[in-house]
Parts: sequence; C-alpha cells; structure tokens
Amino acid sequence: MENSSQLFDVIVIGAGVMGSSTAYQTAKRGLKTILLEQFDFLHHRGSSHGESRTLRATYPEDYYSHMVSLSTRLWQQAEAEIGYKVYFKTTQFDMGPSHNKALLAVVNSCRKNSIPVRVLSSDEVDEEFSGKFKIPEDWIGVVTHDGGVIKPTKAVSMFQALALRNGAVLRDNTTVVNIKKNEDTPDEIVVYTNGDEQFRSRKCVITAGAWTNKLIKNVRGLDLPIQPLETTVHYWKINEGHECNFTIESGFPTFASYGEPYIYGTPSLEFPGLIKIPMHEGRACDPEDRTWAAPAALVDVLREWIKGRFGDLVDCDKPVMTQSCMYSMTPDEDFVIDFLGGEFGEDAVVCGGFSGHGFKMAPVVGRIAAELVADGRAEDVDLTHFRVSRFEGNCRGNVKDFGDQVRSH
Ligand SMILES: Cc1cc2nc3c(=O)[nH]c(=O)nc-3n(C[C@H](O)[C@H](O)[C@H](O)COP(=O)(O)OP(=O)(O)OC[C@H]3O[C@@H](n4cnc5c(N)ncnc54)[C@H](O)[C@@H]3O)c2cc1C
Repeated sequence: MENSSQLFDVIVIGAGVMGSSTAYQTAKRGLKTILLEQFDFLHHRGSSHGESRTLRATYPEDYYSHMVSLSTRLWQQAEAEIGYKVYFKTTQFDMGPSHNKALLAVVNSCRKNSIPVRVLSSDEVDEEFSGKFKIPEDWIGVVTHDGGVIKPTKAVSMFQALALRNGAVLRDNTTVVNIKKNEDTPDEIVVYTNGDEQFRSRKCVITAGAWTNKLIKNVRGLDLPIQPLETTVHYWKINEGHECNFTIESGFPTFASYGEPYIYGTPSLEFPGLIKIPMHEGRACDPEDRTWAAPAALVDVLREWIKGRFGDLVDCDKPVMTQSCMYSMTPDEDFVIDFLGGEFGEDAVVCGGFSGHGFKMAPVVGRIAAELVADGRAEDVDLTHFRVSRFEGNCRGNVKDFGDQVRSH
C-alpha cells in the first residue's frame, strides 16, 4: 500500500516495450514514475516477447524513416547506458514484383529521405547475396543499409532496468480497471486496480497493446479502431552445411517480400541452424481467448515461398518451431499517439495500435510520450498521422495509394 499514498508525476499502464521505454524516459527526466503491468514482467501473452524483431528504414510512408533514424540513435544510447547490446545491425533486403506499388513507394520514400538505396534485377540479387536468394525475373530487389535485429525480451528488460535505475517504481500482476479524474483535486488522476490499491498521479500514459481499446472504452467510452490479431512466428531448419551462410556475420540481411504473400525474416541468430520466416498476417482475436495455433494453410503458403527463394538451402517440409504473438491493428496500419482528451484533456496520453511494426520505434515512442506528458508537445516528430481524430467521419484513417501490408483474416 506504500505506493497508494504517494502522488506520482506519471503512471504508465502496460509494461510491454512501449510502456517500459516510456517509464525509462519519464524517470530519466526526473518525473516520479510508476509502471503497472497486469501479468508477470516479461510475460509472453502480449506483443513484445520473443527473440527477434526487424529494424528497417524502408517504409512506403514518408513519415516513418525519420522516426527510425531517431530510434536507432536512442537504441544505441540505451545500450551504452546499460552496457550490453540488444540491437545487431544488418543490411535490409526488400524484394517483390517490379510493379508492386508498396515496394515502389519504399524506393521513392528512401530517395526522398536521402536513404542510400540500390534497386537490383534478379541477376544482380543473385550476385549480391552469392546465390542465397533467388527471385523471379520480373521481381526487383531493394538494398539499404539501415537494417538490423533487435532482441525483444532482452530490450524490454533493458528498459525496465534503466527505468528502475532512474528511480521508477515497477509493479507487475496489477491490472488497471479504471482511470478517473480525482473529484476532490481535479489536477490529479486516480488509477484503480483489480486489487484494493489505487494510485494517484498528475499524468498517465496508456501503453496497453492489444488491450488498449478495452481499457479506453471503459475509461472514456471511446471506441478506438484497434483490432487485436493473433499471429504466428515460424522457424525453419537450414539444411546441413549451409548454416553459416545465414548468419549476420556472413552478411545475411533482414528481409521482406512484398506482394502476395507478404513474408519477412531475420538472419539465423537466436536458435543456431534455424531461420525465422513468418508471414505478415493475423487472425482477429480476443487477447483473453486465443488459439495459440497457426492454420495449416499458412504453412503451405510459406513452404512454397521458401522453396522458391531458398531452393534446397532451407528445409521447407515443416517449421521446426512456432511462437504465438499479437498485433494491434489500426485500419491504416499507422500508430495512435495522442492525448486521450475528454475530461482528461492533455493529462493522459495513449500510445497504441502499433500494427505489427512498432518494436523498432519503442525508444522514440517512449521519448515522445515523455515529452507529451512533460511539455505537451513532441519535440521533433510530427504526430499528425497518429492522431485519434483521423478516424472521425473516416473509419479508414490515413489515405494510402498502396495496399495493406498485413493480411488480416
Ligand atoms: C510476431 C511479431 C513480429 C513482429 N515483428 C516486428 C518487427 O520485425 N519490427 C517491428 O518494429 N515490430 C514488430 N512487431 C510489432 C511489435 O512487437 C509491437 O508493435 C510492440 O511489441 C507493441 O508493444 P506494446 O508495448 O504496444 O504492446 P505489448 O507488448 O502487448 O504491451 C502491452 C502491455 O500492457 C499490459 N496491459 C494491458 N492492459 C493492461 C491493464 N489494464 N493493466 C495493466 N497492464 C495492462 C499487457 O499485459 C502488456 O504487457 C512484431 C509483433 C509481433 C507479434
């Protein structure tokens, strides 16, 4: 009960990568911070657990690459503070049909943002990667240098350790059930939990991942279009004798294959001899009631793609390991980073809807959240595309002239 009597500057709700990074940033600014998590810290029931996430600067939208570059700097800064590595740099290799609108938008966006980019024919791809990737003749390959792998569970743990080191209080197995303005002291917020405890603060940040909409509906009656999807990560065995060709040291890149199906992957790192090759897709789910399994048809599509790209270098018979995870999808696949509004005005901030591509951005999202609660504005990131108001009278949100990246079933 010791913490219930205190007045915090900031309560952060949800200790995935976004909440943990936010707590680190607010505590580092000297704000008295508490981070609340409904499950055990570092649990596997949300979106931030596991062994690898891709960092890439290749986005079809113009407005993400600046955030990637800020975030990359902040990853390195956090690593320097903690004294170990969570981010491993690679080349990023994107591929797909030469007419694919999203892939062409990636190339344009790189050029517009002065990101060095090379567009290769199928023969040139063969040469670039010493025959490891085979792409059809009517495809192109797009090579950039700002790629990499982040180790997610280790990264979340790093932010929590840094938050603690900067004086934050961390509390797990504490579910927030409601948030209200303090009737007696209107510049205070009261956060109610499933136990007896209540916490008081000046500001609050909601980073509840796939549970964001449920919490916000309860708190403000606002229905945010954030749909949880259950997705599956697949690991495949590299055929004997070829294992060393798929490592970061050998120059193997993080990669994404545009078009139908959209597939992505990372070099062999976390499990020696295995390579991660999943599909960028998901099935609508209730975060409390998941199947934890992948449909068999998904494996058939992956098998075909692996056979086409890697021939007999990778055993595509069946995946040797699968892991379940969740995306929090918005209709336009853009983030939600905004004030909660209503009676909370600018005293509560919501960061959610990271749509399967948020991990790499966690350091910059944490910094933006800290700036919003401390200063009321983000210093050097334009949040226009991330406002809740984009869905008012327009359920699709931001307009894009290329198709969705994530396949939703
Ligand atoms: C398989 C997979 C692959 C991905 N690959 C990439 C990639 O390559 N690159 C990339 O950039 N991104 C990737 N992402 C996306 C990225 O992982 C997510 O965007 C990011 O982890 C979202 O973090 P979060 O903190 O918003 O959500 P979460 O990690 O789910 O954290 C939310 C936390 O809030 C807690 N919580 C919820 N409600 C409450 C409550 N009422 N009270 C207290 N606590 C609560 C939850 O328990 C949870 O711990 C991938 C995601 C998945 C699933």
